Amino acid sequence: MSDKYRSATKTIIGAMRILAVDIISDDGVANAAISESADRLEELSLPDERICKWTDNINSGRHNYSTECGNSFYFEIGTVKGNRAKFCMFCGGEIESERQADDS
Ligand SMILES: [Zn+2]
Repeated sequence: MSDKYRSATKTIIGAMRILAVDIISDDGVANAAISESADRLEELSLPDERICKWTDNINSGRHNYSTECGNSFYFEIGTVKGNRAKFCMFCGGEIESERQADDS
């Protein structure tokens, strides 16, 4: 299954919470099982699938980033993409940075 067609984990958790209430089962076992599954899925998923935006304040050829979570960071050479950085080391969010013309 391609990621393109996958629902976000928190969307599935939300749907399960609704189903846990809406499903009619005489003994309530189905409701309890779905509710507990939603809780377990939430425990196992990433904190909140957060994105951390890094703003590139390029200065004298060096990329100095201000992070959305209130920190700053720079690479000795290159950019977020050039260094293949994927996650913010401060908050764990997925890094989303502005694409630079000389991105390498
Ligand atoms: Zn961050």
